[in-house]
Amino acid sequence: MPWLTKSRFMAGRQCVKRLWFEVNAPLEVRAPESLAILQGRAFDDFVRTLWPGEVIDRARGMPAAIAQTRRVIDAGGAPVLHQAAVRNGEFAIIADVLRRDRGGTELIEIKASTSVKPEHVPDAAYQVLVLRGARVPVERALIGHVNNAFTLEREGDYRGLLIEEDITATVEALLPALADQAIDLHRVMSAREMPQIAMGPQCTSPHDCPFIERCSRGSPPLQDLLHHKDPRVRAGAANSTTFFDPRQAAELRAQPFPRSYLDFETIGFAVPEVPGTRPYEQLPFQWSLHVEAAGGELQHAEFLAIESFGDFAALSKALIEAVPDEGPVFAYNAPFEGRALALLARLVPAHEAALTRLRARLVDLLPITRRAYYHPRMSGSWSIKAVIPTITAELAYDTLGEVQEGEGAQRAFLELRSGVPDAARRARLMRELLDYCRRDTEVLVTLARFLQS
Ligand code: SF4
Repeated sequence: MPWLTKSRFMAGRQCVKRLWFEVNAPLEVRAPESLAILQGRAFDDFVRTLWPGEVIDRARGMPAAIAQTRRVIDAGGAPVLHQAAVRNGEFAIIADVLRRDRGGTELIEIKASTSVKPEHVPDAAYQVLVLRGARVPVERALIGHVNNAFTLEREGDYRGLLIEEDITATVEALLPALADQAIDLHRVMSAREMPQIAMGPQCTSPHDCPFIERCSRGSPPLQDLLHHKDPRVRAGAANSTTFFDPRQAAELRAQPFPRSYLDFETIGFAVPEVPGTRPYEQLPFQWSLHVEAAGGELQHAEFLAIESFGDFAALSKALIEAVPDEGPVFAYNAPFEGRALALLARLVPAHEAALTRLRARLVDLLPITRRAYYHPRMSGSWSIKAVIPTITAELAYDTLGEVQEGEGAQRAFLELRSGVPDAARRARLMRELLDYCRRDTEVLVTLARFLQS
């Protein structure tokens, strides 16, 4: 009989069909680990260095981890125990931290979020339920999360980064109902029949369900679009009507040459690495720039920092030298590029004036596109990845390799930074990062020309 682990319990609270799929018909090809999971792991590692203690070894499987945890607890427990594996019948959990404090045991669930979220309460409550059922007396439950008001003043000084919030009262209030729910969920996942559940808000809340594609097969895709607030989206869904109003792009035609097209790739860390920055502050590691002359000739420049990440003076200097002294700097969703330039100006006082001037020249192509254009294949989205395949198939992002979107670029960056022993893979990831960012600015050039056509 499979165990109801904490992740299965949380999956079942989101949707019993999701739980049933995860146990009985998991995805054949698992999606790459999300950035949120990678961030969570990095924050867990940080907490282990902050609170040194005994760590239960999970490498030899859950039964061995459970036996090791039992031995430690029966011997009186450790002041701080990481990754305690505990089972009560068919219910099992791995607790991030058990801490003996003020005469009792505390459960501390570590989250890389910057606040306590509603879903953290049942997550911790299920652990308390299993721990108490397995004769581990837990007096308090806390969430340890990232303090987003923290700034790294000095390298290695992380005092104040972790915040502990006591959620014992809400956990205790939830426990009676939760015990019944755990039994119900275990019954659902062990059943032969798949639960019949229609798609709904639960598919994306509190997290995107990994089975969305499977559940959407065969269901009518247009319902949301037929009721969309934008009449152009409704017309596109009902009659496949394309909307294009070149008058809305008049301000674009008025822009002088040379024209620059800029895109940054950025990364934020739960545990900030660069002095002067805060958790999750988006730090540029790459940019791509196309410069278009009046005759249409294009020049390209690019920058990618892996080992030299954090040398923002070098990244800024290269950018300032590559952008012409005048003319508009186009971006798509330009406030993002604006924030990156503002951050660089703050971190590199020597280039503050030049970066601030560059920021003042930003022109956002997103609102112009929104006003001027809609194609039914955009399915209600003006994201650049939705827009560009409706203009040209050549520049569609799915023609790229592994790196096809911003999160893919961030994952590739993290992999490269962690050290890729395989030289061929390293070279390929570098190439793909450069290709991806270059594609972003090629797309901007094509889009601007299209809107003026
Ligand atoms: S896509 Fe929606 S209905 Fe399907 S399993 Fe996931 S949450 Fe349930």
